[in-house]
This record gives sequence, C-alpha cells and structure tokens, in this order.
Amino acid sequence: MEASHGYLGRDPQTPLELLERGREEVLRYPTATLVQGRAESVVRRADGRFDVGSLVAHRVVLACGVFDVKPELQGFDEHYGATLFHCPACDGYEARDRDIVALGWDAHLVGFACTMLNWARSITVVTNGHHFDGDESCRSLLASHDIELVEEDAVRLLGTRGSLEGLFLQSGRLLTTSLVFFSIAHEPRTELATSLGCRLDEEGYVVVDAEGQTRCRASTPQGTSPRACSWCRSPQARGPSPGWAPRSRCSVRRAHPARRRPPRN
Ligand SMILES: Cc1cc2nc3c(=O)[nH]c(=O)nc-3n(C[C@H](O)[C@H](O)[C@H](O)COP(=O)(O)OP(=O)(O)OC[C@H]3O[C@@H](n4cnc5c(N)ncnc54)[C@H](O)[C@@H]3O)c2cc1C
Repeated sequence: MEASHGYLGRDPQTPLELLERGREEVLRYPTATLVQGRAESVVRRADGRFDVGSLVAHRVVLACGVFDVKPELQGFDEHYGATLFHCPACDGYEARDRDIVALGWDAHLVGFACTMLNWARSITVVTNGHHFDGDESCRSLLASHDIELVEEDAVRLLGTRGSLEGLFLQSGRLLTTSLVFFSIAHEPRTELATSLGCRLDEEGYVVVDAEGQTRCRASTPQGTSPRACSWCRSPQARGPSPGWAPRSRCSVRRAHPARRRPPRN
C-alpha cells in the first residue's frame, strides 16, 4: 500500500506514517501506554472489571477491525494496494479516465460499479466464476450504463506492481485494464466479543446501543451492573457512506455492506 487517502490534513500519507503518528499522538498523554501483543481472551471478573491477559481493565474497547474477503486471483498480493483496491472512497480517484474492472457477484456491485463511473472511463464487472446475484433490474441498470457483465472466472493479473496491464479470464480472454477493484465481503473479527457473550446482528457485527455500548455487563458483588464493555463501529469499519452520487438513477447502497462469504458456485 503506497498511500492512504481521505484523512483531512494528512492526505496522502503512507500507512506507516499514519501508524507512527497515531502512536506519537497517543503517547503524548501521560496516562497512555502501548502494549504490543495479541489479546487471546477477555474475561469478566466478579468485581466488574476485566482480565485481558495480565492486564486488568475497567473498560474494554474492542477495535479488532474487519477482514476483507479477497478474490482468488494469481498475482493478487503483487498488485494489492498499488493497482488493486477494494474501496472506491479511498482509491476511486485513482480510476479517473481509466478502464477498470470491478470484481464481485453480489447485487451491491451495481452501485459499486455505477459509482466508479464518476471517475472511470469504462467499467467491466467480472463475477469471478460466480453467477451474478442481482436480478433483471440490476442487469439492465448495468447495461444502461454500458457496463459489461462477465460471468466468468478471473484467473491472473498481467503486469508488475504499479503497472497493471490486464486481467486474464478462464476462457483466455484478456481484459485490458490498469486498475481493478473488488467487492466481495467483510468479516468482522468478533471472537473476543462473542466470548464475552455479546450479541451479533444479522450482518455479524456486535450489537451496541446508541452510545456504542454492548450489553456485556459484569455483576458486581453488590449486584449493580456497571457498563463494562464498549465497542464502536468506526466509519472505516462500516465502509464508506457514499458521499458521491452516481451518474443516474442507479441506487447506491453502502459500497461495503458487511456480508458473509457466499458459497462459490
Ligand atoms: C489496501 C487498503 C487500502 C486502504 N486505503 C484507505 C485509505 O486510503 N483511506 C482510508 O481512510 N482507509 C483506507 N483503508 C481502510 C482502513 O485501513 C480501515 O478502514 C481502517 O484500518 C480500519 O481501522 P480499524 O481500527 O477499525 O481496524 P484495523 O485497522 O483493522 O485495526 C484492527 C487492529 O486490531 C488488531 N487486533 C485484532 N484482533 C486482535 C487481538 N485479539 N489482540 C490484539 N490486537 C488485535 C489487528 O491486528 C489490527 O491491528 C484501506 C484498507 C486497505 C486494506
């Protein structure tokens, strides 16, 4: 990943710069300490606090992120973050005046692809060997935007990092493209939350109240129930809320709704 975009006042910056600045900012507070390591478990104690490894906490903020489901594609690692992206809000600008491919098979791909037309010269949707999940209205919406829908397996990226030349399909067809986006699914990391008994919603995210608090509470010896565990869905984790309008009536839902990985056809 060469550059991170979208942080006002710090655009662009490399992901390493972002992390380094974040650490510096946190450590300016004398009460803050950084401990590097993996939290294997969070355990509620009878006194209302939590054991997190050797640490004891009054509050736990679960910010474990999400896992982006990636397409099976030869050359993925070489191109990811340079000419292969998943977020139109972060990297859509890179698509300006270019012919791009959008990989995915969910009906949401329609909004994703139409949105990309704000920048791109042309879009081709490739379903990566899956049957396209959208109905006839989705298909005609794509067609009305001159977006070709290719229900074929994508097998290999052509070119070197930073110089993508195309995408080979199973049939041997080569799609000429210098930028590929994918939109498959997000899988929130919720192991710690579920081990604490937090409820998940139908999209797999932890259920929280208006203040971002879970219902995960520990009983104190006095019988009170302090708010014990909080979790907040960050805008980034939720995925971008499109602030951009597509060219026409195409309805754009969240570009990255949390979706479970569907079975491969
Ligand atoms: C290729 C790429 C490009 C992107 N470009 C941009 C961009 O240009 N602009 C932008 O705004 N956003 C961009 N994003 C999105 C942005 O990176 C994410 O939205 C953001 O990192 C989400 O932050 P987070 O803190 O919610 O989760 P994360 O950044 O995923 O952080 C979660 C952290 O929790 C840690 N963790 C998980 N489980 C445990 C555990 N049990 N114990 C200890 N630690 C744990 C993980 O190791 C991780 O460090 C990009 C993402 C990718 C993948």
